Amino acid sequence: MADDYRKMWEELGMDLDAHDGLLEILPPLFGDVFLSQEGRPARMSYFDYVFSEVHGLRIQELVNHKKNGGIVVGTYCTYAPEELIMAAGGISVGLCAGAEVAPQEAMKFLPANLCPLIKSSLGFKLARVCPYIESCDLLIGETTCDGKKKFYEILGDMQPVHVMELPQKKGEGDRALWRSEVRALVTRLEELSGKKIDEASLSEAIKIANKKRLALSRLAELRKADPPVISGRDALLINQIAFNDDPRRFTGKVNELCDELEKRIAQGKTIGGPARPRIMVSGCPMALPNWKLAQVIETSGAAIVMEEMCTGIRYFRNQVDESPTDLEGMLDAVADRYLKIDCAVFTPNAERIENILGLVRDYEVDAVVYHALQACDPYTIEAYKVQKALDEAGMPMLYVETDYGDDSGQIATRVQALLEMVR
Ligand code: SF4
Ligand code: SF4
Repeated sequence: MADDYRKMWEELGMDLDAHDGLLEILPPLFGDVFLSQEGRPARMSYFDYVFSEVHGLRIQELVNHKKNGGIVVGTYCTYAPEELIMAAGGISVGLCAGAEVAPQEAMKFLPANLCPLIKSSLGFKLARVCPYIESCDLLIGETTCDGKKKFYEILGDMQPVHVMELPQKKGEGDRALWRSEVRALVTRLEELSGKKIDEASLSEAIKIANKKRLALSRLAELRKADPPVISGRDALLINQIAFNDDPRRFTGKVNELCDELEKRIAQGKTIGGPARPRIMVSGCPMALPNWKLAQVIETSGAAIVMEEMCTGIRYFRNQVDESPTDLEGMLDAVADRYLKIDCAVFTPNAERIENILGLVRDYEVDAVVYHALQACDPYTIEAYKVQKALDEAGMPMLYVETDYGDDSGQIATRVQALLEMVR
């Protein structure tokens, strides 16, 4: 990162020494996981560049946006309706963290046997090494898992937090509750930004977010190609960047990449040679820079063709209905789209099982690797139902429970055993 950014980071209140330590680790890790791959699509260069500037140029854009009177709003979950943030003249940034930072500090507030994603998210805040959270005017949380709910209370002592009450079922009463929470968020964002969310601003924001999700869906469709034309690691990186990049620019770049991939398919130009087992990873999100499992699977000789997770299809699967023209109708459409998300915090969650079986068929998957973050109750417990459904469908599943530590060697042994079985 250029030296010019140091002043900006200092003004954001960051701990520059601790941040330097983080910046020393990330580039070599990125090189190992991404740049070492052969035959990558040329258009991945944009996403490599975004990553190289993830704490630089993008933060500069956030700072400039705030100087021009805009707001920056942080989110921790795919239920946060980014259309509303955009309609209020805001920039939405994803804050879930995927690396172990300041674990001892975090454990002064949180129990040790808690999901690493939550511990890490607090660790980044306590260590003052995340310029995204330090740029935020407001953080949005949702009542999803218990860990996150209680984490937001702690975070609320450090920064303004708005918690949306997310129902845990999907009946009419639950929908009404969620709809009222969407309305409450509108009020909070209007107060914060001093800008009214109206038909024009919301309609534009819905279109922008839909286009982004459509571009990601187009990319996902192209991953049905056999052999694959893009690695699972690259697709994961794109899905991770989706939460933080400028949505219009990002959409354009994903579509340019898709154009290139379509040409590659027409030319029979694939990556990694033929006949590799096709893997779907399923379960807990992999927040930046958590690439461990994807790296292990693909360097063991398999290809990841789908991520059934929030850093994957759960983020972009459904669109907001663009037909309503009045504000209340638009808010209904936004609420309905987000309530379709099939996170394991819902009960019952039969939709997720159906979706998994559909993906296994559509992507001609040879095996599923279930990614469970340690102490994540919703996903570790729901693994039972997923396993049962996959057993009935004759689909092998490897259950991997892990955290942000280095257990790559052990995971690789188990992944290789799975691949031997399906080859
Ligand atoms: S897994 Fe569930 S709680 Fe976690 S980010 Fe996704 S939707 Fe939110
Ligand atoms: S991975 Fe599981 S425990 Fe962690 S925040 Fe998401 S739902 Fe909660």
